[in-house]
Amino acid sequence: MGARAVGVPDATSHQDIRTAVRDLCGRFPPEYFRRIDHARAYPEEFLEALTKAGWLAALIPEEYGGTGLTLTEASVILEEINRSGANSGACHGQMYNMGTLVRHGSEAQKRAYLPKIASGELRLQAMGVTEPTAGTDTTKITTTAVRKGDRYIVNGQKVWTSRVQHSDLMILLARTTPVSEARKKSDGLSILLVDLRTAIDHGITGRPIPNMVNHETNELFFDDLEIPAANLIGEEGKGFRHLLDGLNAERALIAAECVGDGYWFIDKVTKYASERIVFDRPIGQNQGVQFPIAKAYANTRAADLMRYEACAMYDARRPCGAEANMALMLAAAASWEAANACLQFHGGFGFASEYDVERKFRETRLYQVAPLSTNLILSYIAEHVLGLPRSF
Ligand SMILES: Cc1cc2nc3c(=O)[nH]c(=O)nc-3n(C[C@H](O)[C@H](O)[C@H](O)COP(=O)(O)OP(=O)(O)OC[C@H]3O[C@@H](n4cnc5c(N)ncnc54)[C@H](O)[C@@H]3O)c2cc1C
Repeated sequence: MGARAVGVPDATSHQDIRTAVRDLCGRFPPEYFRRIDHARAYPEEFLEALTKAGWLAALIPEEYGGTGLTLTEASVILEEINRSGANSGACHGQMYNMGTLVRHGSEAQKRAYLPKIASGELRLQAMGVTEPTAGTDTTKITTTAVRKGDRYIVNGQKVWTSRVQHSDLMILLARTTPVSEARKKSDGLSILLVDLRTAIDHGITGRPIPNMVNHETNELFFDDLEIPAANLIGEEGKGFRHLLDGLNAERALIAAECVGDGYWFIDKVTKYASERIVFDRPIGQNQGVQFPIAKAYANTRAADLMRYEACAMYDARRPCGAEANMALMLAAAASWEAANACLQFHGGFGFASEYDVERKFRETRLYQVAPLSTNLILSYIAEHVLGLPRSF
């Protein structure tokens, strides 16, 4: 779709990755994801195939058994997954969590975990940050990790912790120094790697949260969970800063998923509007139908550029908070605009599951709320990019 401008990446760049991921996704037709969605199940076979092909080890360096791709290339993988009609929500955790483990883990941790994650022996799909009372104000989290000898003892609660039931490991953010004793409110937070295989029912209990999309997500309760001190990632008290690498990767990657969704909706509605005859002509001949689709396409292309910029800055190890946030916001808005046009011009059929539009419509709506709500992104731009007075 669209001719490639000189030097500017777009939906035709990285053809080798696109072709290979499309081939793999082609083995999982829309009926597969429809069935999984209806059953509220997890796409195990799809995950297995992605793992076997090495795609979920994209951000693991080759020396640890991974494929050693850049964030840009990893984002193309997730874009293609979503563009094929699937949903990366079941698997993207393993990619963005690498931003934390690969960049901040010790050599011993990387040697112990990365080769096993790369081979599929272990999954690192879960990240526990959000808490019910703190909400987006992450520095107010109240889950604590108290050092006792060679262990941390964790107590507290998390909410919306996704893929826990299908992961072996989890990145956990907890407070190790009370906020009253920390120099800044973002200090005193630490990241611990939790082995879910031993922790579930031995310090962690959970409750799945039924939700609008088929997203496996949970409420977790920590009751004297013991974690070896060796599982501290990075420096104690600097966890918030370490986590930002994972969060920026997450935002840029999810922006790419939204771009994939946007193109999926546009392809789908363009085809339908060209074929559906009402009043003796294709509905797509009416400009009232063309314009919302064309506008969504223009906005998806624009968001795509910001996603490439965010990924390129991340890959160059330059600060990319603003770009990653803007990419997520623009891409989530564009995919939602495309979703609305697609649903609207499918008429009643947009609501029928067999067209997959209603499923993708629900799935793409999430990204204006999670991983970060649009308002918080605007507030970040206002304060950190434009220098407007801090509002909270
Ligand atoms: C399906 C799903 C999966 C998720 N997976 C994970 C996961 O794996 N790990 C994890 O840690 N978290 C996860 N989350 C949590 C997600 O990141 C949060 O839900 C999201 O960041 C919003 O936080 P909140 O729900 O606490 O909203 P709140 O912070 O309560 O905010 C609610 C709304 O109020 C508005 N608002 C709040 N403060 C302001 C302000 N200062 N100015 C303007 N508007 C404001 C925003 O519009 C916001 O959407 C997931 C969430 C969902 C729904």
